[in-house]
Amino acid sequence: MKIVALAGGVGGAKLAHGLAQILKPEELTIIVNTGDDFEHYGLYICPDLDTVCYTLAELANPETGWGRVDESWNAIENASKLGGLDWFKLGDRDLGTHLERTRRLKAGDPLSQITRDFCKAWGVEHTILPMSDQSVRTMVDTDEGELAFQEYFVHRRCEPRVKGFRFVGVEEAEPASGAKEAIESADAIVICPSNPWVSVDPILKVFSLTASTSSARRPAPLPVGEGKPVVAISPIIGGETVKGPAAKMYRELGIEPSALAVANHYRGVITHFVMDAVDSQLTESVRGLNMRTLVTNTLMKSHEDRRQLAQAILQFVGSDS
Ligand code: GDP
Repeated sequence: MKIVALAGGVGGAKLAHGLAQILKPEELTIIVNTGDDFEHYGLYICPDLDTVCYTLAELANPETGWGRVDESWNAIENASKLGGLDWFKLGDRDLGTHLERTRRLKAGDPLSQITRDFCKAWGVEHTILPMSDQSVRTMVDTDEGELAFQEYFVHRRCEPRVKGFRFVGVEEAEPASGAKEAIESADAIVICPSNPWVSVDPILKVFSLTASTSSARRPAPLPVGEGKPVVAISPIIGGETVKGPAAKMYRELGIEPSALAVANHYRGVITHFVMDAVDSQLTESVRGLNMRTLVTNTLMKSHEDRRQLAQAILQFVGSDS
């Protein structure tokens, strides 16, 4: 069964890792958000892409979910002593990734090719692609003005109240090389339990998978949803996020955070929805949105949890495709 998974960082990477434990390399393509990419110290940093790559390479820090295991912090500590910025943590090993990526980008190589080459070097056999080789920048409109995503997310620790989002460059950004073909030939699309607002929406917009953008912007939206299952897994469990600001964003945007709110967010895009057992009382309401539902354990604490959730999702979408 050929699957395309759409992923942000930590939540997306965990499910992508579960899918990779089951599916053969040629059966899984993971398309990753790059709206939160930014330049720092002159280096091009792709936080979500690196999180997914490190996780599949089993190089990720299991405590944080981001960054690398066995990391040291000499370079950033030294830079900070010299008066440099230290709000974005860059480990020594991780820095090597950014140095080499920046060198290759400056030499003119596309991000998707660089990512393929890095994955090969790290022993990752499944395909991981950025959503686009062109720049898309997520901007967060807040009560303190508009902030670049990492400024809001890391520097300001998601404290400003959110009023909306803007994805600069998304109108012009083409899907990365190979990504459109992967979506077209997939048997099902899996939207990982990532932040709907800032991790998944940028990807959906690049691929014209949203009802709101498809007709206006691109002549031919990708043929998903017409018989092809598109399944989303709720990142909200029991009204809260496992990690990160998604629930806070829903509240600040005037929406009660819940699995139902997530299902509603993806209305018109998804055919199937997976939510946690603690939210089983929402099943009928989600079915009312014309989606098939699966209620299961969606909290991935261990590698086995990731594999079991991935297996349940594949069975769910495979059962009627
Ligand atoms: P980020 O870019 O690192 O913030 O990563 P993502 O957008 O991929 O992930 C953030 C979302 O993942 C949050 O809304 C979390 O609630 C969700 N998440 C993290 N771990 C899990 C998990 O084990 N299960 C589920 N269902 N959601 C999770």
